[in-house]
Amino acid sequence: RTSSSPLVHLSSIGGGGGGGSGSGGAHPTAQQSMFSDTGQGAGGDDDLPPPVNLTVQNRSRSLLSYTHEGLAAAMASASSSSSSPAAAGALGGTAGASCGSPPGMALQLTTSSSASAIIGASREQKLRPATTGLAFDSLMLKHVCACGDNANHPEHSGRLQSIWARLLGTGLAIRCDKLRSRKATQEELQTVHTEGHALLFGTSQLNRQKVDTSRVSFVRLACGGVGVDLDTTWNEHHTAAAARMAAGCVIDLSYKVARGENRNGFAVVRPPGHHAEADAAMGFCFFNSIALAARLLRHRMPHEMRRILIVDWDVHHGNGTQQAFYDDASVLYLSVHRHDDGNFFPGTGGPAECGVGTGLGYNVNVAWSGGVNPPLGDAEYLAAFRTVVMPIARDFAPDIVLVSAGFDAAVGHPAPLGGYVVSPACFGHLTRELMQLANGKIVLALEGGYDLPAICDSAEECVRALLGESTSSIAPSELARPPCQAAVETLQKTIAIQVSHWPCVKRLAHTVGLSALQAHSSEREESDTVTAMAGLSMQPLKRTSDVSCEDSEEPMDQDESK
Ligand SMILES: [Zn+2]
Ligand SMILES: [Zn+2]
Repeated sequence: RTSSSPLVHLSSIGGGGGGGSGSGGAHPTAQQSMFSDTGQGAGGDDDLPPPVNLTVQNRSRSLLSYTHEGLAAAMASASSSSSSPAAAGALGGTAGASCGSPPGMALQLTTSSSASAIIGASREQKLRPATTGLAFDSLMLKHVCACGDNANHPEHSGRLQSIWARLLGTGLAIRCDKLRSRKATQEELQTVHTEGHALLFGTSQLNRQKVDTSRVSFVRLACGGVGVDLDTTWNEHHTAAAARMAAGCVIDLSYKVARGENRNGFAVVRPPGHHAEADAAMGFCFFNSIALAARLLRHRMPHEMRRILIVDWDVHHGNGTQQAFYDDASVLYLSVHRHDDGNFFPGTGGPAECGVGTGLGYNVNVAWSGGVNPPLGDAEYLAAFRTVVMPIARDFAPDIVLVSAGFDAAVGHPAPLGGYVVSPACFGHLTRELMQLANGKIVLALEGGYDLPAICDSAEECVRALLGESTSSIAPSELARPPCQAAVETLQKTIAIQVSHWPCVKRLAHTVGLSALQAHSSEREESDTVTAMAGLSMQPLKRTSDVSCEDSEEPMDQDESK
């Protein structure tokens, strides 16, 4: 657990003013208040803009405070590709280039593998005429910290530029439908967020002066910029519009897919959303785009969209999304994230958090623990999808699948930002797995992910999967590797908890320790056995007239001896 961030030490600017009330930023649960103690900021009673007389808080549970050890390394590639807002315009070509796989990066671009053929990872899928939709708008690039230095902020505009440049450069974007983008309306925002939150973070500078901002204090960051916390930078002129655009993109793309106008979709959006709660911005997030899309689909297409599955594979738990649907049986939230018994940001998302009231059983957390030694990779994510995610998802039978597609579990993220080593190819594979649900209606929306090569590669793999094109194969060594012991224990614990809500997880529980290949052959043997037994049990019927009782018992004897 990190006790302090260097940002804090550097930042005793603003002088006094540290005596603000401690209650202003209270959050619904004690757990969340551990890392969102905004109420102690001095700016709480100040009118905005601009925030003045601010004090930086020692926010030990800030997402970014986990990053300081590896930040320099993590940001090296980022800052070299786009270090200032001014560089944004000129980035098109270089960003794409910067996303090329650097030497030594294990991207597993093997072209053929008997292993992947066995599990069918590269098979082409039949597509309907409607194609993949893509959402992007350059307005979202304008959400930048006042310091203008991306090296201070992992969640910077270069992320989006790089991914978009990759999709253009590879010719993938042109094979997709580009969404006509728009900002989410206040009315829409308030289907998930409180009126105060929606107005505070979603209206223009002028209008915001009419809003009661006493509940929220802004803090002055070490870099000289302003944020709602150390992670979540606030640009007085552009953040509101960017956050509303991100939400609008995800909402509209989800509609298009729900209505069948697009077969599926990928939203290249920022700021991310899954940490944003009804009344709190945190962890780089202001509005919960995925939650808004799900809520609005339920409201506006109640008969067609009866059940919505949200899969969240960002390395962090989506506390905001879980909160939004915790008592709602029509939206199943299923998250796979690093948890470390509550010691990884945001601390929520334990395996026993299963929902309340009628929503009980409709919240599933695969909460990895055991740190990053060894780092989790494809083998663990494949096991989680095989034994928990896909069985429950199939049983739920959603009408649409929305994915909080953060790529910070990908290889390339230092331990404080993720520390796992999931390959881009694996994200493509997981996408294809989820495409089997809901008649293929699936929308991926970018959440986190900060290593530019990794997020570009991962986004490319996912879009290729959505288009039905072949993707890179998962490394044979990962297909052959059983999940690590800590991951096996997590899956066993998850299954033990979820089995009362989802009996289907019992069937594969005995295979959690198997590699993807072992599980595949075990599954095949099992189905061969079932087929064989069905055949055997038919034999006595056919042969009733000419066989003895002893003969008919033979198959059973054979079966028991197996
Ligand atoms: Zn800054
Ligand atoms: Zn994340």
